[in-house]
Parts: sequence; C-alpha cells; structure tokens
Amino acid sequence: MLLSFCGAAGTVTGSCYWMQTERCQFLVDCGMFQGSKTLKALNYGAFPFDPAKIDFVLLTHAHIDHSGLIPKLVKHGFRGPIFATEGTFDLLTYMLPDSAYIQESEVERLNRRNVQRGRAAVEPIYTGEDVDAALKAFSNVDYETWREVGDGVRARFWNAGHILGAASIEVEIATGQRSPRVSRLLFSGDIGPEHKLFHPDPEAPENFDYLCCEATYGGRKRSDASPEKRRHILGQEVAAALKRGGNLLIPAFAVERTQELLLDLSVLFDSGALPKVPVFLDSPLAIKATKVFLKNADQLEDTARVPDLFRRPNIRFTESVEESKMIGRFSGGAVIIAGSGMCDAGRIRHHLKQNLWRGDATVLLVGYQAPGTLGALLSQGVSAVKIQGEDVRVKATIRRIDVYSGHADGDQLLAWLQARLPVKGAIFLTHGEEDALNALRDGLAATGVPAERIVIPQLDDVVDLSAGESKVQFRPMPHRLPQESLRGPDWHNDLAAFSLTLRERLEQAADDKARGVILRRVIRALEGREER
Ligand SMILES: [Zn+2]
Repeated sequence: MLLSFCGAAGTVTGSCYWMQTERCQFLVDCGMFQGSKTLKALNYGAFPFDPAKIDFVLLTHAHIDHSGLIPKLVKHGFRGPIFATEGTFDLLTYMLPDSAYIQESEVERLNRRNVQRGRAAVEPIYTGEDVDAALKAFSNVDYETWREVGDGVRARFWNAGHILGAASIEVEIATGQRSPRVSRLLFSGDIGPEHKLFHPDPEAPENFDYLCCEATYGGRKRSDASPEKRRHILGQEVAAALKRGGNLLIPAFAVERTQELLLDLSVLFDSGALPKVPVFLDSPLAIKATKVFLKNADQLEDTARVPDLFRRPNIRFTESVEESKMIGRFSGGAVIIAGSGMCDAGRIRHHLKQNLWRGDATVLLVGYQAPGTLGALLSQGVSAVKIQGEDVRVKATIRRIDVYSGHADGDQLLAWLQARLPVKGAIFLTHGEEDALNALRDGLAATGVPAERIVIPQLDDVVDLSAGESKVQFRPMPHRLPQESLRGPDWHNDLAAFSLTLRERLEQAADDKARGVILRRVIRALEGREER
C-alpha cells in the first residue's frame, strides 16, 4: 500500500494524496497549485499518476487548492465517482466554472503575449466543458456515515469546521491477502478554528494507523476572537473608515469570508452600532456562494438568531456589470465588498483603481495575503501600484485585521491532533510553510509522540505503508521539482521586489540628475564593472 504526496507537501499548496492499495487506486483531493509562478507551472504539467487508472476521488472541501484540478483529471481520462458532501458540491457548481473562466481568460492573455514574442500558444488547463463533465461525476455523501467507495475501501466524512461542506475523511482499507486486516487512515483536510461562525467545532474519531494533518497555522497563536469581539473590531474599523469620509473597500474571498462579513455587518446595523450606510456586494461569485449558504442555512450554526440572513435594505448585491459600474458614482460613505481576497483578480481591482489615490478612502484587508500579490504589496505600505497597466498612487489608508480566519491556530491544531491519538504508525504533517510545519512537529513531540513517528514529507515523496507500523519507508520516486525551488518566493517574486525598490528609490531621489546617477549605478552593477 503506497501513499504519495502529490500536493500540499512541504511548503507546497495544492492538496493531493494518491493512494495505491492492492485492489484499487484513489485520490484524496485534487487541488490546484497556488503561489509562485514556478509552482503554478505544475498545474499545466502532467499528473504524476495516470488519471485513467484512478478508481475514485474523496474530496475534503470546495477550496480551489483542494478541488481545482478535478476537471483536468476528468479531461485526462478519469472516469470514476467523486465523493463529497452536498455543501461542497453546491459550492463547486459555481466555483469550478469560475476557475475554468479564469484559466481560459488567463491563457488568452498569455497567448496574446506569446504571439508578440514568437512563442507557441498554450492551452488552458481545462475549459467549461471539462467542468460540466466533472460535475456529473460527483456523488454526495452524508457526514458521519460509512460509505463503500471502492474495492476494499470505505470512507466516512467528519465536520472539519472550516467552510461550508468541509470534511476530514476517515478511510478504512482492507489489506493483506493472507491475513486480512484493516488499515485506518485519517485525512484532516483543512481544520477550522474554535468559535467559527456558521460551523460547530471540528470533530473526528480517534485511534488510527496513519494520519495526514494540515499545518497552515502551526506554531501561530491567534488572539481569542469570540464572535462579539470580532464584530466589535470590525465595527470600529468601519466606523473609522466612514469618519475618514471616503469609501471603504473590503477585498474578500467569495466563499465563507464574504458571508461572515455580511452577517456581522447585519448584526452591527441592526443593533445601531453602525449607521445603515450603503453596502455593495460586488462579486458575481460571492453572490452565488451566498445563495448556496441560504440554501444550506438549516445546516449552519449562528444563522437562526439573525433574521433575514444576509438581507438588509442597505445591502445591495450587484451582479451585472452595469450595476457594478453604478457604484463608481459613490465617492464616499459606501462599503464595497468584492473579490478577489488578495486583490490579484476580480472587480476589486477596478474599485482599487478608483479609490486608492483618494486620501479619504480606506482598504480593509481581512484575509491571508500571499507574498507577491497586490494585497500583500498594499499591506506592506507601498506608495504606488500597477493596476490593469496603470500606475496608481496609494493615498488611501490601508488597514488589516486578523480576527477572521478559516483555520485553526497552532494550539487548536495540536489539540485536534491529540484528540485523534493513538496513532500506531506515522503522523504526516502537510500543507504549511516551513516554520509552521516545524513548530507543529515540535509541539506534537513535546506531548509525547515519538519524534520518528512525526514525518514532514516533501512534494512527490512516496511512502510504503505496508511495511508495518514500526518504520516509515520512503520509496525512491521521480520528483517534479527540485526541493530548493519550492521554498517560498521564486525569481519572479524577486524581480517584482527589485523593480519596486528601484522605483521607490527613483521617486525619492532629489531630482532627475540624482535619478540618472542611480540608474547608471544599477547598469554598471549589471555589467559587473566597478564603480569609480
Ligand atoms: Zn480550505
């Protein structure tokens, strides 16, 4: 029985586990790689397995870094069922077509440039047609109910408290022809925090042979954000932004974060803590995701106490482009929620272009900003940015809060792991940056789990699980990328940082003569000549 870490290993995003048992092959998640260009190039390359030989897929949740390559899997010959909860499927009916649309338009842009540079055209990773075929392959599962999913394999989904429909997946595999026994595995998926809006705290059974656990916020301690405290902090930020006089822009992820904000704003409006200013939800995907939340409202926590969930006379959903353009008439006093959450795509870029140069405007960042994204640049306090080919000065106030999170922090991850013990074989830590992985490993070792049983695999590592529980055996296998190229930013990020520094130095220089001196120095350095 082999387990391959085809994603979410080491510092790599894009969750994908490939299991080969004596009787079948299956995947847990089939996520899209996100991050540096080097990493994203993997999305265009071949899978390390033959999609036609995969019998079925178990999907933990709808986030694109867990589900985004499923249409590609189908495009390349996968014909089996995909098991997921109803909430996950409902979200994917909007998220996967949106992902296909992004692929197709990105490739179209890239190909325009490729023609200019005399390079060959590239194909999109997948298209809307591939998405349609993939959505037909889904089979809904209920939480906490065993399901025969393949030859000698059964699975049970547990609430992971992360986003609508998210699950940790328990898998039992019949192994050994001569002396039949069952191997028990648990795949954590992404684990949500305690007190998460909409969801009960994560749960799962105990006593496994092997466990794969995410480490996104390993070692990080977040201040306790009770619902009241979180709402209070949001209310203060909105009030301060309104006082500045301009618009408040909130870049937000379409799924979960947008609905959390809408609910918290509703409560603040209802209680009179905030004046009923116009709020625009300007994201077609977020509007669709909000409808999925309304459809599944009976399964969500905290929704019963808030009447007319997400609906308030002053909250407007602007789906069409015409409606979206109308928002431009507001030069102040409006709250605009739009995607993407990291400002690197979507309608938020249009609003940023219209508002960033205004000294009375505010941008409130409420989610994770990956290095190199426009959102990260803004949070670093740059004085100018490029949006849709135009230079835009940043005069707006940029604020950042971290009370909204879909992930358990370090202590909560550790508590979740401890509640799953004993684990007879190994605990594999995945899906995190190097510091987070190491901190979670050390924390776990400090609770008494033997260090040799805690393993941090790298991308494309393969372990043999049939060798017995005493020792984790790695199998030599080809790796798609050398390990050093996977550590954090790549040269594209370095180039972006260099251009930015150069630009800032030029702007700060006293006059054009001084700017000429700086540029000549850089050119000399590039040519390797000593400066006199
Ligand atoms: Zn997730």
